[in-house]
Amino acid sequence: MSWEENVRKVVPYAAGEQPKKEKMIKLNTNECPYPPSPMVARAASLMDLGDLRLYPDYNAEILVESLAEYHDVRRENIFVGVGSDDVLAMAFLAFFDGDRPVLFPDVTYSFYDVWADLYRIPYKLCPLSEDWHMRKEDYFGENGGIIFPNPNAPTGVLESAAFVEDIVRENPDVVVIVDEAYIDFGGESVLPLINQYENLLVVQTFSKSRAMAGARIGAAFGSEKLIRYLDDVKFSINSYTMNLPAQVMGAEAVKDDVYFRDLVKRIVRTREYSKERLKDLGFTFTDSMANFIFATHSRIPAKQIYEALKGVDIYVRYFNKPRIDDYLRITIGTDTEMESLFTFLEKYLSANGGNEN
Ligand code: PMP
Repeated sequence: MSWEENVRKVVPYAAGEQPKKEKMIKLNTNECPYPPSPMVARAASLMDLGDLRLYPDYNAEILVESLAEYHDVRRENIFVGVGSDDVLAMAFLAFFDGDRPVLFPDVTYSFYDVWADLYRIPYKLCPLSEDWHMRKEDYFGENGGIIFPNPNAPTGVLESAAFVEDIVRENPDVVVIVDEAYIDFGGESVLPLINQYENLLVVQTFSKSRAMAGARIGAAFGSEKLIRYLDDVKFSINSYTMNLPAQVMGAEAVKDDVYFRDLVKRIVRTREYSKERLKDLGFTFTDSMANFIFATHSRIPAKQIYEALKGVDIYVRYFNKPRIDDYLRITIGTDTEMESLFTFLEKYLSANGGNEN
């Protein structure tokens, strides 16, 4: 008997590369190319670092208060964590504990199957249609819970709020988690439905539309009962998950709605322009409603383009996985960054047989 037999063996999630190069263009992990609200910097500069000697508030009151006011919900409807990954991991542990399989799309956020395996939760993949949409009926049968992102990742495909509500309504006996990491870039959130459906958990993040991936802030919204169950799991692992600076800075970010709206508008504008440029270069893609574009080229394999871009320090995401191994996921950067990408692609594609299809 070896100690290794007692080890919990898992295949971990592979995060996007985080190269440390001075002059790279980083379009591979869906971060925001712009800084967070100036109110965040101001709050940080006003912090008394002497306070760091104390443990932070385990309820993260200032952040929860700020979110409650912004979304017009009660504090009891909110749970916060260290990025939405932390929140989602807790939710998997808290809500998916049955014998029946948890359902999620075959092409989706690649952390879901990792958490399921880690916690020994059975799951079943529901194939997306040819045009990358979810098929509602796939989620109407027996199951032990449901999770999906809306818009989906890495496809960027958005389902309507009515579509999501149908799935929630049809599944009153299990928890339905809607991962809204990218909802601010063009979708309608189902957050207002938490008052109507006790089994709906809506998860959001500060990493994308609030430009704070480095602060690691995520939030879940749900019925009081759901949130209490989440708290019970969290307080069984680590009471003080969110550090003090993150709580202070997150609370300030939420208050600056003008900045937030402008930021989202800028990214959406660049995204729509980028779609035109990519089309002219011979790419096809879904009508992404997120802060990235999921694209494939008519002639050149995605992996080859990914390698070529990497060669000039332009990083995009490539997944060597079934169905999506000929696609690139390109995060929307600044206009200048996108222009550099298009300029390189123009040259590269014409050197490799012309830009046309
Ligand atoms: N959900 C989806 C669909 C994502 O793409 C991401 C980003 N990797 C996350 C959740 C987690 O984001 P974070 O932990 O930074 O909030």
